[in-house]
Amino acid sequence: MPPVPIIKTDYLVVGAGAAGLAFADSLVTHSSAEVVMVDRRHRPGGHWNDAYPFVRLHQPSAFYGVTSRVLGTDSIDRRGPNAGLYERATGAEVSAYFEQVTGDLEASGRVRFFGLSDYRGSEDGKHRFVSRLTGQSTTVQVRRKLVDATYLEMPVPATHTPPFDVEPGVHLVPVGDLVELAEPAAGFTVLGGGKTGMDACAWLLDQGVDPDRIRWIRPRDAWLLDREYQQTLELVTGLFEGVSLYVEAAALAESVEDLFRRLEACGQMVRIDPEVEPTMYHCATVSVGELEQLRSVERVVRLGRVRHVGADHLVLEEGEIPTDRGEVHVDCTAAGLRLSPARTVFEPDRITIQQVRTCQPTFNAALIGFVEASFEDLGAKNRLCPPNPYPDRATDWLWATAIAQRAQAAWGAEPELNRWIERSRLNATRGLREQLGDPRVQAALTRYADHLEAAIANLECLVEANALDRRGVRTP
Ligand SMILES: Cc1cc2nc3c(=O)[nH]c(=O)nc-3n(C[C@H](O)[C@H](O)[C@H](O)COP(=O)(O)OP(=O)(O)OC[C@H]3O[C@@H](n4cnc5c(N)ncnc54)[C@H](O)[C@@H]3O)c2cc1C
Repeated sequence: MPPVPIIKTDYLVVGAGAAGLAFADSLVTHSSAEVVMVDRRHRPGGHWNDAYPFVRLHQPSAFYGVTSRVLGTDSIDRRGPNAGLYERATGAEVSAYFEQVTGDLEASGRVRFFGLSDYRGSEDGKHRFVSRLTGQSTTVQVRRKLVDATYLEMPVPATHTPPFDVEPGVHLVPVGDLVELAEPAAGFTVLGGGKTGMDACAWLLDQGVDPDRIRWIRPRDAWLLDREYQQTLELVTGLFEGVSLYVEAAALAESVEDLFRRLEACGQMVRIDPEVEPTMYHCATVSVGELEQLRSVERVVRLGRVRHVGADHLVLEEGEIPTDRGEVHVDCTAAGLRLSPARTVFEPDRITIQQVRTCQPTFNAALIGFVEASFEDLGAKNRLCPPNPYPDRATDWLWATAIAQRAQAAWGAEPELNRWIERSRLNATRGLREQLGDPRVQAALTRYADHLEAAIANLECLVEANALDRRGVRTP
């Protein structure tokens, strides 16, 4: 038996997806630490390597990725459905970008990446990973911390197992295989009401499929974010105006129902079907044009989740509907977001990367990297980075917003952190300082300041009064 190699490092980062890379980039920039990264995939970038061919970021590239490298050109699209808004990278562009990022990190001489390597845990303070290719086991002695960048690992269509039975001979494809179809389908049944389901319907419509040939199984309707309010740099006024409007709505809401009415009235939540009360919220973002397009699909089935796909019928939680062998069933049921409960981010010998600002995975990972590099005290670090699980139910918006706004208030008291946030390209509100002369920004700043404390208090009160499930989140 050859001897087991031993590597020494300051940090062992497990998972070289967007989160692991954004963390490592930030840590290496702001400290002299050495880092080893391991991932079971053959290359960095995580789930983006398995993304469906027509996927794009649903937010601007301008604030996605890592701090030290720009993704795209920070330009505003002039044509197409995203005209007037910041460009959005394709999945292939995101994967290529993360490969370049890893090259940058390795060039620093302080980061080593091991692909096709399974992390197998630790014993007596020694960590171990095993090559999927050679079976070679490697021991890692970690001087500072293990960093778990897999805690929110994404379940994606290409890698998940459908949560229902499928009869032999049924035409069921993962969303990514739509581009491989060789024969025209009699019709398409899209299974899943989340962002992937929306992308599948939008792509089919873009390709000229008649909306009447699309049937959409939507167990839950979702509240969505209007992309116009998710813009940065030159367009950041809209984003901050939006923040001030939802903070005001949160401060004034008299009940959960009243809150969502207010959020919709001020444009901070939109829905596909105005007649149906959404029960889901995954931070999915759409433009007004996409919303109109999705509304053209009128054959919507709301009978719960799919249990069985048979040759001539589908069994759903609340009923059955007919189907046939000419129909292509498109599996869009992968969860999309990992709904792990909150876990303390900074422990003495471990960091668990999670969300702090709602649904900003790369900003949050970079923030945690900066805080690790710049602060000593564990209590202070955890106060600045409270875990904020991904939302799932519509009502999760309440605690997720309260946590994010409380954290934001804590950052305000730390000048060094504030400077980092202001400069970071991952900070969606970057550019606000340059727009301070705009009366809209001034009005938004006043609205925000006037309502912030009341908003946090009211949201926490509503969470408590309605006994909303908080998935391990504690409010002070
Ligand atoms: C279609 C789609 C569009 C999206 N669009 C956006 C967007 O516009 N903006 C946005 O902010 N977010 C978006 N997201 C969310 C997106 O997932 C995150 O931005 C980010 O890519 C998640 O990265 P991650 O590192 O947390 O997870 P992952 O990409 O899942 O990476 C985790 C990595 O850990 C590795 N791993 C797990 N266990 C082990 C082990 N034991 N040993 C070794 N390696 C291990 C896995 O192989 C994987 O590579 C989108 C997600 C999807 C599915």
